[in-house]
Amino acid sequence: MDQKEFKTITENYAKKFVGKIFPENIKKIENGICVCCENEIGEFKNAISKKEYEISGMCMDCQNKVFK
Ligand SMILES: [Zn+2]
Repeated sequence: MDQKEFKTITENYAKKFVGKIFPENIKKIENGICVCCENEIGEFKNAISKKEYEISGMCMDCQNKVFK
């Protein structure tokens, strides 16, 4: 993900409900960290997963565990 894309994701997350209840997660997303396992998020397999990160702040691995 490029810098611009990252900024958009962070901003969108901050506007969402979860971003409001967990403001400390915004910092993690800003740094490309998963809010769940606290590892670097790495690559997402598709646009849907990327969108999901914007909502939940979860990396690909955590999304796979939750949404299987
Ligand atoms: Zn994770």
